[in-house]
Amino acid sequence: MGGTEQDYVKEAFDTNWIAPLGPNVTGFELDIQSYLGQDSHVAVLSSGTAALHLGLQLLGVGRDDEVLCQSFTFSASANPIVYLGAIPIFIDSERETWNISPELLETAIKDRIQHGKKPKAIVSVHLYGMPYKVKEVHEIAEKYDIPILEDSAEALGSTFKGGKCGTFGDIAVLSFNGNKIITTSGGGAMVSKNKDTIDKAIHLATQARDNAVHYQHSEIGHNYRMSNVLAGIGRGQMEVLDDRVGARRLNHQFYLDHLNAIPEIEFLKEPEGYFSNRWLSCILTPSYDIREQIRLALWDGNIESRPLWKPMHLQPVFKDSPNYTDGTSEDLFNRGLCLPSGSNLLEEDLKRIVRIIKFALS
Ligand SMILES: *Cc1c(COP(=O)(O)O)cnc(C)c1O
Repeated sequence: MGGTEQDYVKEAFDTNWIAPLGPNVTGFELDIQSYLGQDSHVAVLSSGTAALHLGLQLLGVGRDDEVLCQSFTFSASANPIVYLGAIPIFIDSERETWNISPELLETAIKDRIQHGKKPKAIVSVHLYGMPYKVKEVHEIAEKYDIPILEDSAEALGSTFKGGKCGTFGDIAVLSFNGNKIITTSGGGAMVSKNKDTIDKAIHLATQARDNAVHYQHSEIGHNYRMSNVLAGIGRGQMEVLDDRVGARRLNHQFYLDHLNAIPEIEFLKEPEGYFSNRWLSCILTPSYDIREQIRLALWDGNIESRPLWKPMHLQPVFKDSPNYTDGTSEDLFNRGLCLPSGSNLLEEDLKRIVRIIKFALS
C-alpha cells in the first residue's frame, strides 16, 4: 500500500458510504480517466473477469458465436467467452512481444469466414505488461471489421508509441486483483472511448434496473459494481502507480544488469516504441531442464518463481476448442520462468535471487 488508502477508506466509513456506489467509486473512475486521458470513460467493477464478461456482452457476443482469443494468457481472458455460450478460438503468439500473432490472427479470421462464420470479437492481451503489436493487430481488426476487447489487466502503466495500454480496444479491461501492479484487493475496470458503452456497462453491472420508482427490469443484469470501500483503496493506489511501475522496471533492470551476460538466460526486450510496466520480469532458458534447474534451486532457497502461463489451447478444459498455433507459446511455456517481481523487493533480495540463479547454472 502507498499510505493514503486508509484515509479514503476511513472517509467511506465516516460518511457511511458502505455500498457499491459512492464518492470513492466516482473519484476512482475520474482518477483512472485522468490517468488514461480525458477521452476515455471508465466503469469500476468487481473484477477484471467481470469486466471481460460485460465487455464481450456489450460487443454483442452471444450463444454459438466465435471469439478469437490469445492463447498465451491467464484463463480469465478466455473463461467469459464460455460464460456467454460462445466458442473460444485460440491464436498463438509471436516471439517479439509474446502476444497474439498478427499473421495467425489473419489466417484464423480468413479460415473462420471460409467456414461460414465471421468471428464476433478479438481478445488480445498485453501479457506481463508488454504491449502486443497494437498497430498490426488493430489494422487486421479494422480490415475485417471485428471489434477488439483489449485485456490490459497486466499492463496498467505500459505504453505503445506513447499511447497508454487500456485505451486501444473498442473496450479495454483493467484488473486490481491482489497480484496486479496496483490493487484494491479485488477489482477491475472497463474502459471505452464510447460513453454510451460505459453507461450501458454500469446499467448491466447494477442488475439492469430500469429508470422507475419500483424495481423493474427489461434485461438480465449482473451484480458487478465495485464497492465504495475498495474504490477508496484504488484512489490511494493511483497516487503510487508511477512509483510501482518504476520499482518493477528497476527489478527488471537489476536482473538484466546481473544476468544478461549469462548465455543460458534471455530477456524479453522492449521493441522500439514499446514501454512495459514490467509487471513480471521473465526469462527464457535453453530448455525445460535448465528452467527447472533454476526454479528448483530458487525453491530450495525459499524463493518462489513460476513457469510462464500455460497456453489455453493446452489446457484440459479447452482441449476441444479450435486453435491456430505454431508451437510458439508452448515453447515459451516450456522454457520460460517468471522471477520474483514484487514492487517491494529489496536490493538484498534481488542480490540473493541472482546469486542462486548463477550458482544453479555454474
Ligand atoms: C488478472 C488477469 C485477469 C483477470 O482479472 P481479475 O481482476 O483477477 O478477475 C484477466 N486477464 C489477465 C491477463 C490477467 O492477468
